[in-house]
Amino acid sequence: MARKSDPIRERNFASVLREVFSNPGQSRKDVADAVGISAASVTSIALKLVEAKLLREASPVAAGQGRPRVPLHVDSTSHLVMGIHLGPRVTGVVLTGLDGIAHASALVPHSGFSAEQTFDVVVAEATKLVEEHAVGRHVLGTGVATGGIVDRERGIIVENSGAGWFDVHAVAQLAGRLPGPVVLDNNARAAAQHELLFGHGAQQPDFVLMVNTSDLGAVLVSDGVIRAGHSQHAGKIAHLRVSDGQFRCDCGRQGCLQTVATDEATVRCAQVAGRQDVRSYADIDRLYDAGDEQIRAIVAERDGYVARAAAVLMDLLDPGLVVIAGTPAERPETLAHVRRVVAARAGQGELAAQRVVYSSDHELSLSIFAASIMVNEVLERPLSVLEPLSY
Ligand SMILES: [Zn+2]
Repeated sequence: MARKSDPIRERNFASVLREVFSNPGQSRKDVADAVGISAASVTSIALKLVEAKLLREASPVAAGQGRPRVPLHVDSTSHLVMGIHLGPRVTGVVLTGLDGIAHASALVPHSGFSAEQTFDVVVAEATKLVEEHAVGRHVLGTGVATGGIVDRERGIIVENSGAGWFDVHAVAQLAGRLPGPVVLDNNARAAAQHELLFGHGAQQPDFVLMVNTSDLGAVLVSDGVIRAGHSQHAGKIAHLRVSDGQFRCDCGRQGCLQTVATDEATVRCAQVAGRQDVRSYADIDRLYDAGDEQIRAIVAERDGYVARAAAVLMDLLDPGLVVIAGTPAERPETLAHVRRVVAARAGQGELAAQRVVYSSDHELSLSIFAASIMVNEVLERPLSVLEPLSY
C-alpha cells in the first residue's frame, strides 16, 4: 500500500488515464509518446488500470509489419460515480458512468429543511439509489455541488442564501454516509468541469461559463484550468448592472442581473405583468410551450439580460467561448436572439457573438455536473480512488 501514495506514481497513472480519456483509441505506444513516459511504464500502468476496470482494451488492429496495436479506451461502465446537486428546495441525485451518462437518478424535495435535515433525506435517497441501481458496480465517490460560495478546499458551504445555509461543513457531515471520497464544489465550477470533460471545453479549453438558474455564477477556465479565485469567490455576476428596471436588489441597488435573470426573477416579472397564473418556473415552461406570446416575450427579455452579461464577460476577458448553461440553454432556438444582443453590445460585435454558445447538457444537468467533479477526481487521482477497492 505504501507505494500507492507515491506522488510520482500517482501522477503517471493519472497522465495515462487522462490521455486515454481525452484521446480514446490510442495504443500504449501512442500514449507513451503523448505523455512522455517510457513505453514499458505505460504498459505496466495500463495493465493495472485494465485490471482495475478503469481502462479496457478494444480488439487489436493490424499495424503493418509490427505487432498489432491494441486501442485503449476508458472503461466507462464498470464503475459508477455519484453526483448530488443540493438545490435550495429540491436536490437531484444521479449515478453516472465515467462518460458522464446518467444510469439512474432521483429528486429529493426538502423545502424549509435545515442543512442537517436536508442531508438526512438526501443520504437516505442516495443509499436507496445505490442499492437499486449499482448492481455489483462500485461507486467510486460522490461529487456534491451547490449554489453560492463554496470553499472546495475545506469542504464548506460558506454561503448559499437561496437555501439559507451559512458556514455548513458539508463534507464533514456527509463523509462516511455517501460513497467516498466526497468532494464539494459550487454549481458553476461543477458545470465548468463538465464542459471541460464532455462539452465545449474538450475542444476549446479557454472559456467562461455562465450558469443561470436560481443561482447566477461565472467561471473562468484558462487553458483547461478552472480558476476559483484568490479567495474562492470568483465569478459573482449576480450584481452586474444590466437593466434600468424597477426591481430593487437585495444589495440595495437596482438593475442587477439577479433581479431580472434568475428563474425566480422571471416568475416575478410575469406576476408583475399581471400573470397571476404563474406561480413557479414550471408554469413559465408550460405556458411557453403552449405558445403564450406574453410569456415568450418575458423569456426573450430575460435572455436579453443574460446576453448583456455575456457581452460584458466577452469584453472583459476575451475568452475563446462564453458558454451559457442553465435555464436559457434549455431552449436552443433562443441562441440566435442572445447572439444578436451580444453582437450589438460587445466591443468585438459579431465576432464576439459567434463565440457565445449554449451548454450541450440540459435535463438533470446540475446533478450530472456534480458527478463530473468526481469523474475528474478519478482522472486526477486514480490510485487514491481505487485504494479502498484494494486493486
Ligand atoms: Zn444587486
